[in-house]
Amino acid sequence: MYKTHNNGELRMAHVGQEVTLSGWVQTIRDKGFMMWIDLRDRFGITQLMFNEEVSDPALMETARQCGREFVIKATGKVIERSSKSDKIATGDVEIQVTSFEILNASKVPPFTIEDESDGGDEIRMKYRYLDMRRNPVREKIIFRSNMALEIRKHLIGQNFVEVETPCLIKSTPEGARDFVVPSRMNPGQFYALPQSPQTFKQILMVAGMEKYFQIVKCFRDEDLRADRQPEFTQIDCEMAFVTQDDILNTFESLTKHLFKSILDIDLPDFPRMFYDDAMKLYGSDKPDTRFGMEFVELTDVAKDKGFVVFDNAELIVGICAEGQVEKYSNKDIKKLTEWMQRPQIGAKGLIYVKCNADGSFKSSVDKFFDADALKNWAEKFGAKPGDIMFILAGEEEKTRKQLNELRLEMGERMGLRDPKVFKPMWVVDFPLLEWDEETNRFHAMHHPFTSPKKEQMESMLNGDHETMKGLRADAYDLVINGVEIGGGSIRIHDRALQEKNFKLLGFTPEEAEEQFGFLMGAFEYGAPPHGGIAFGFDRLCAVMNGVTSIRDFIAFPKNNQGRDTMIDAPSAIHDEQYEELYLKSTASEEVVS
Ligand code: ASP
Repeated sequence: MYKTHNNGELRMAHVGQEVTLSGWVQTIRDKGFMMWIDLRDRFGITQLMFNEEVSDPALMETARQCGREFVIKATGKVIERSSKSDKIATGDVEIQVTSFEILNASKVPPFTIEDESDGGDEIRMKYRYLDMRRNPVREKIIFRSNMALEIRKHLIGQNFVEVETPCLIKSTPEGARDFVVPSRMNPGQFYALPQSPQTFKQILMVAGMEKYFQIVKCFRDEDLRADRQPEFTQIDCEMAFVTQDDILNTFESLTKHLFKSILDIDLPDFPRMFYDDAMKLYGSDKPDTRFGMEFVELTDVAKDKGFVVFDNAELIVGICAEGQVEKYSNKDIKKLTEWMQRPQIGAKGLIYVKCNADGSFKSSVDKFFDADALKNWAEKFGAKPGDIMFILAGEEEKTRKQLNELRLEMGERMGLRDPKVFKPMWVVDFPLLEWDEETNRFHAMHHPFTSPKKEQMESMLNGDHETMKGLRADAYDLVINGVEIGGGSIRIHDRALQEKNFKLLGFTPEEAEEQFGFLMGAFEYGAPPHGGIAFGFDRLCAVMNGVTSIRDFIAFPKNNQGRDTMIDAPSAIHDEQYEELYLKSTASEEVVS
């Protein structure tokens, strides 16, 4: 037997018992006549004690051969420690070792297996099995497992059925590139890995499953960032005979359940905000509402007053940073302006109005606007003495986006984005279509299966180009602390409307039939009204832990180049594989030329 107990388990109540423990060597302290080993497993650390007076010298000799991360087994009596530790749960006791065995040796690990490791990202990813021995990483993987369990419990309790959908499919457009897999049995043809199970879950509704969910891997070949991985997991759901409200209520209740069961946090009802309002107030469809600092528009009062920047602008809009006058010297404002002018943000400039403590104003537009005008602005902003107003002007959409960046940055600097505070919200009524000036065509804002609002269906079938721009969808996102946790929509369940949508999106009838004939065909056999949603599982885990990187919640993540450095993938394949798959080997062609 390797273990009578785990290493996080023993307490004073066990004193006197003989136990056997196994695990990894965390630390060894050797005083000659006495030595101690901290023995670690998934559950904790227990101190082993060797004492010349009671332990066999041969046994101590064996123990001395151990290094960090050796795998050992020890048997002995649980005794009360003379100097107790309140740092670990087993800190009142130790094991007086009477039998000891090295189960496996270990090389010296390339980084320290401690909460704060000395290893950089790349080395820790290459030796992920060592990294996962560290508490912070292991805890996140366990957190994820607990979440998955609670999701299943909650949804199955609500009559959902978990159904697995295939991984080798035909491309489903969710706006990213597909990963493709060549088919050996069908020369020259390829499967695509699902970007999401979208069409399958809709087919499940036609199949009468009514409430479907799946915790499912999705694959998108996109450029990577800290919060993106080429393969990631969604909590994917679909329901039949539902309205937008039914879906929001169901998944609000799931989210509340997860916060309560996992973090013991009671979330109040989630506010719902129209997409148009979110853009107007925050310049973003995923506002961080842990703090206010909402946008205030000045176009009406500040345009056509002789200041050319404002006069040429489509929109003049700003935010009020409370109590920041003292903190921002002219030099600081210059730095902030330069920050806004970086290509990532691309603002032309930044206008400020300081509301001084004595009630006077100091601004970068003093030449054009007198104290009365500035006072009027301050009233609009609700600005008090001590506050600074920051104002941007320019083309509407761009200016809002830039101000969103400034708002988030100011929120960060002012300590208003507390990772321990959670502000979930629904953003609803997204536009159905987005007009792309460059390619001169519409894109689906969510995806091509999203339904316009019921009252707009008629005008979608018959309206003109401008009408299409105004279409709104029953499409919604769950946002927590400025992070998009997930989104979904009520779907089209009618063939004619789906055909029309494909047409607007630039599909020829043949292309639509070729790619999605199976779905439109299914709609002809009694498709119920339906809709659904998908949450990013990795992201939800990260947000609930107050961190931005999703990597640690994935047992074996890829790096920024999309590589798994532990197994060294992707990798070349053999010539025979190219042949079998009817592929041309570019590698061998290069050799030939
Ligand atoms: N398939 C969508 C997505 O992955 C979610 C949905 O519409 O249910 O974003």
